[in-house]
Parts: sequence; C-alpha cells; structure tokens
Amino acid sequence: MTALGHLINGARVDRQERSQDLYNPSTGEVKGQVSLAAKATVEEAIAAAQAAFPAWRDTPPAKRARVMFRFKQLLEEHADEIVRLVGEEHGKIVHDAQGELARGIENVEYACGAPELLKGEHSKNTGPGIDSWSEFQPLGVVAGITPFNFPAMVPLWMYPMAIACGNTFVLKPSERDPTSALFIAELALEAGLPAGVLNVVNGDKEAVDTLLDDPRVQAVSFVGSTPIAEYIYSRASANGKRCQALGGAKNHAIVMPDADMDNVVSSLNGAAFGSSGERCMALSVAVAVGDEAADALIAKMQEQMASLKVGPCHDAGNDFGPVITKAHQEKVCGYIDSAEQQGATIVVDGRGVQVPGHEGGFYVGGTLIDRVTPEMTCYQEEIFGPVLLVMRVDTMEEAMRLIDEHEYGNGTCIYTRDGEAARYFSDRIQVGMVGINVPLPVPVSYHSFGGWKRSLFGDLSAYGPDSVRFYTRRKTITQRWPSAGVREGAQFSFPS
Ligand code: NAD
Repeated sequence: MTALGHLINGARVDRQERSQDLYNPSTGEVKGQVSLAAKATVEEAIAAAQAAFPAWRDTPPAKRARVMFRFKQLLEEHADEIVRLVGEEHGKIVHDAQGELARGIENVEYACGAPELLKGEHSKNTGPGIDSWSEFQPLGVVAGITPFNFPAMVPLWMYPMAIACGNTFVLKPSERDPTSALFIAELALEAGLPAGVLNVVNGDKEAVDTLLDDPRVQAVSFVGSTPIAEYIYSRASANGKRCQALGGAKNHAIVMPDADMDNVVSSLNGAAFGSSGERCMALSVAVAVGDEAADALIAKMQEQMASLKVGPCHDAGNDFGPVITKAHQEKVCGYIDSAEQQGATIVVDGRGVQVPGHEGGFYVGGTLIDRVTPEMTCYQEEIFGPVLLVMRVDTMEEAMRLIDEHEYGNGTCIYTRDGEAARYFSDRIQVGMVGINVPLPVPVSYHSFGGWKRSLFGDLSAYGPDSVRFYTRRKTITQRWPSAGVREGAQFSFPS
C-alpha cells in the first residue's frame, strides 16, 4: 500500500518518509497510510509557493476570483465523493458530512467576492492637490494547519480567501483524516490555480515546526486544540509571523425556567451528540436555572436519548458515528469514569456501547451526566465526545459567572422566552459566538468565526471579513503631482 503523499507545485509527490496508519473509525480497520513529511519536503512546498507568488500576486483579482467560481462548481459536482472520503476517515454520518461540505463551499462563495472586498479606501484632496489611499496587498506565502474534526471545511475557511487575495498557500491537514483535503486541493488546481499557488504537505510536528520556523512563510492560520494553538501562536509570533490560532472549547447552554423545554431538548440533543460531540461548537454543558428546570430537562433528555442511534457513517439512519480513534474513545470514556468517581450522576451511560457488525469501531454512546460541579475534571477539560453535562444553579447570574470563569470562550447559547434576559446575556457574556435559542451559533461565511479567551490566540477571527484583513497588509499611499515650475521651500514643521 502506498502512503498518501503530498501535492507540491501542481503535482502529487510521494517520498520515502515516515508514515502512519489511517483508520476507518466505523470499523476500526486500517484503511491505508499517510506520509509524514520530512523537513526537506515541506521546504520544497514552501519554495514552490514562493516561486508562484510574484505572478499570482499580479494576476487581476477578478481572474483569481474566476478560479474560485470554477472551484465551487467542482466541489458541488464531486460532493458525493468528498462526503464518502470524509466519512471513511472521520466517521461522520453522510448528512453531517454533506452539511460540513456545504459550509465549506460557502467560504469559497465568499472568496468569489474578493475583487469587491479588496477595493480599498480612497480620499481625494487630503491636502492641496494631494490624494491618499489605502490598498490591501497580499502577504506572500501563507500556511494553514488544520484539525481532524472538519477535514473538508476548515481548510476551506483558509485557502480560498488567502489565495483570492493574491497569496500562495501551504496546507498541512490533520494526519488522522487527510484524504479529503488532498482531493479537494486537486479540484482547486483543476479549477485553474497555477502550479505552486496551493500546496499540501501531509505530516505531523516536524512539518508544522518547519512551517513555523521558515522565514519565507509570512503568516500562519491554525485551528485545533488549545495547547497546540498556544504553542503555534507563540512560536509563529516569536518568528515574526502573523498568526491566528483557534483552539478548543467548552460551550455552555443556559436553560432558563421559562424556556420551551421540548425545543430545548431536541436542539440540545443534536448540538451535544451530533458528529459525536467532536465539534468545537458542540454544546457540552447545559446549565439549568432552578431544580425544576433541571429535573424537567433530565427527564425529557433521558426519554429522547433512548432513541439515539449510533453506528457507521454510511448509514444515514444513524444520528452520529464513531469517534476518531481508539485512543480518543478511551479518553472520552475516561472522562465519564472520572465524573462518576468525583460524585456526578451518570444518567445515560454510553460506555461500552456495541454496534452489531461493527464491533471493532470506535463508538461511544450518547451520555448524560447530572449534578456536575465546577471542580470536576469532566467540566474543566474539553471532552470532545458525545457527552452532555448538566449543572444546576439558582440564578442566571450564577450561570453567567460559570461561563465567564471557564478558560474557554468559543460559543454559548441561552434558551429563554424573555427578551430582556437574552439581551443582557448576549451583551455581557465573555464568549465570542452567542446563540439566543440557537444551539450552534456558527457564523455564516460573510461574518467571521472566533472565540474569546483561550479559544483564540491572535486578533482576527477566521473567514469572513476578518480573513480579508488577516491575509492582506494595508499600504497607505499619499501622492501629489506638482505643476511644472512650482517649487515649495523646505518645510520644517510637521504638515497640518
Ligand atoms: P490538534 O491540536 O491535536 O491538531 C491540530 C493540528 O495540529 C493537526 O494538523 C496536527 O498535526 C497539529 N499538531 C498536533 N500536535 C502538534 C504538535 N505537538 N506540534 C505541532 N503541531 C501539532 O487538534 P485535533 O485533535 O485535530 O482537533 C480537535 C481540536 O480542535 C479540539 O480541541 C477542537 O475544539 C478544536 N477545534 C477548534 C475549532 C475552532 O474554530 N476554535 C474548530 C475545530 C476544531
């Protein structure tokens, strides 16, 4: 079996390098191998991107955007293939993978508007006969490092806009499910990107560190867990690079006593267990205000969870699939063990779930844990599995304090019928993306995506308007064309 290689300077490249196994998490079987790029391979990709930059930078934005239009079309034509590749390595169910791809394509659509977004700012007569304008120039070679949980979508948050803005790109996808990212990048080349504009290197820390240290790389976009995000941000910044590093999450939903409990339960069910809870916007903590709300929530959740279906990705009748690896399955179950040992009540237990015919798959069933308290490990850390914690508080202020004191600040949601409470919550809460009766408030592609606190290192969020600023550098030009013969004497005071 040949290990999945790289895409460098417009062609597939296979090297004799270290490699690791790729699994199909639905069955637990090894489905192939992926190469782990050596430093020299990554440097070759950076060199290709560097060589492609001058011509791509000078290609008119409208021509660059036309490639994105064709790319969007190719993504739609190959949707079934992409969904299959995502499912085989990630394990998410067909309809979930279709949703992921659709959200990725939205970012390509937004990048089609780059000529409009790059127009800049102009002021005439800032002084006598003097005009001034700001333009937004590409940076050069940009790197993207992405996580396993959205193998198709997260790379599309990054390179379509980076490239439409005139940069060239080196992508390092997750080594756990890299095949769809490589396939999609080949479609971008087919859409008309010149060789070297988009390169993909598969790999692990060695590849990432090479991208972080190479002076030719001007900026780094990262999405993944918080410890790695912090590391990436520190190392890239220390090397003088622009960096945005999106990290992990612990997203709370406040359930107010006046909320429509049927609606809460059905939306929490999807938001906690969809994609096996392996979403950075998954709602993993429900904070019920008052015991009455908590008891009603637990009773209805328990009832609904009885019909949750976990199973292989290709069966669209399943609600969610396996988690990504055996090690992750054990980690998630370890969090449930710790909750039990630390005094929480396991109401629905997903440990040891069996999926007939797929006994080797990495499954964890939907799990509901009541009476969780702030010092418990299951609350302090991101579980990233199909586990919903329930906490009980007496007031909305107490619920908000819990959220504000948590290290993460990615997403949150309030369920209520009280507009005043919702407005207060959305105004004050220390979280970057807020839902009001909306469980997964993932911004659309023409807004930007980013958490607060330790969920985002850097100043600009991912995709949307912030990404245009991230992938360009402002230059402000001031000009005057003096009439022939008119000369000014030297001016020693600051012009006003
Ligand atoms: P991860 O941090 O393990 O890996 C992400 C990337 O970093 C991968 O490409 C990996 O190869 C690389 N990497 C891992 N260890 C490294 C190291 N020591 N040095 C250099 N590079 C390294 O994350 P993951 O498990 O693939 O993804 C899940 C995490 O991503 C969760 O924490 C989730 O919340 C987070 N996530 C966040 C967002 C967001 O927008 N905030 C979106 C999706 C996922």
